[in-house]
Amino acid sequence: MVTMPETVSFVELPPSPLRLTLDTHALAANWRVLNAASGAARAGAAVKADAYGLGAAAVVPVLAEAGCRDWFVAHWQEVPTVLAHAPPADLAVLHGPLTDADVAFARATGVRPVLNSLDQVRRWLAGGGGRCDLMVDTGINRLGLPLADLGDPLLRGLDIDCCHSHLASADEDVPQNAVQLARFAEVRVTVPARRFALANSAGISLGADYHFDLTRPGLALYGGIARPEQAAMIRQVARPQAAIIQLRELQPGDRVGYNATFTASAAMRAAIVALGYADGYLRCWSGGKGALIWKGQQLPVLGRISMDMTIVDASNAYDLKEGDWLDVAYDPVAAARSSGLSQYELFTLLGRRFDR
Ligand SMILES: *Cc1c(COP(=O)(O)O)cnc(C)c1O
Repeated sequence: MVTMPETVSFVELPPSPLRLTLDTHALAANWRVLNAASGAARAGAAVKADAYGLGAAAVVPVLAEAGCRDWFVAHWQEVPTVLAHAPPADLAVLHGPLTDADVAFARATGVRPVLNSLDQVRRWLAGGGGRCDLMVDTGINRLGLPLADLGDPLLRGLDIDCCHSHLASADEDVPQNAVQLARFAEVRVTVPARRFALANSAGISLGADYHFDLTRPGLALYGGIARPEQAAMIRQVARPQAAIIQLRELQPGDRVGYNATFTASAAMRAAIVALGYADGYLRCWSGGKGALIWKGQQLPVLGRISMDMTIVDASNAYDLKEGDWLDVAYDPVAAARSSGLSQYELFTLLGRRFDR
């Protein structure tokens, strides 16, 4: 039998050639500005999906220090990371109790389930109930109780902290927003909850009517631009960097990368960077559509981006050495446009290999 040498378990791993620096001041400032933009309501924080890929363990303490008190994750498995920095009563799980095990976990920890259907209400009450949140569907048709179920007598047995609904198109100016708002205003007079919450990041900019008692921004906290009018108030939070692991001199005619999609027309210098599509640096930025940055200078991608590596043109970066760090260009709006992906996907694709 082959066993791992015991030493491996306590020898410190060397640093990764990928690092993601969180600008904690910018993160805190984004929460504050969203909290202020939420008017009389308080801003919480959606920290699901490991805080949109940025790392919930680092994000939650910063936002807690800034004053955030309401946390949202999607899965029960995401609870422990948040609980290391926040009281259980301040945390709600958006998917709600899907099984009796979820109910037992919620009751044992004191974390609030967001109940999304009469089935979940029954499961919660059968398990003993307690303080919970309720999600009502006002038109997204994803999770949430249909309006038609709001008269159900079962609901009277609930101890509801916050009643939620979720906007489908808050990033657009479409009539659907007002329709959902009007429906939620009716929910508010029917459902006995202490607080009401409707707006995500984009919804915060739709106006005071959308704020109610609590807002649930996610994307904008992390530097995403949910609506154009937020661009001026939201700061960049994540600074991904990748190390150069080799420099090479190319001769005219040399071909670069998988399928040889780039051929050097003159002598040039190429830098091989430890960043690939497995790290969220998308293959669609191959062939000069993307660039990495050295001291403000753009180094265009040469040939195909591969799983673990990207090759860039370093001909004009005379002082570059192996081991130097390149910045990954960061403009979520431009990256979303050029990739065809959403800013949400781009953040959550960042990958596990960055030292955070
Ligand atoms: C993810 C999520 C949010 C946060 O949305 P952003 O668009 O990232 O601000 C808010 N509410 C619910 C129910 C969510 O699932």
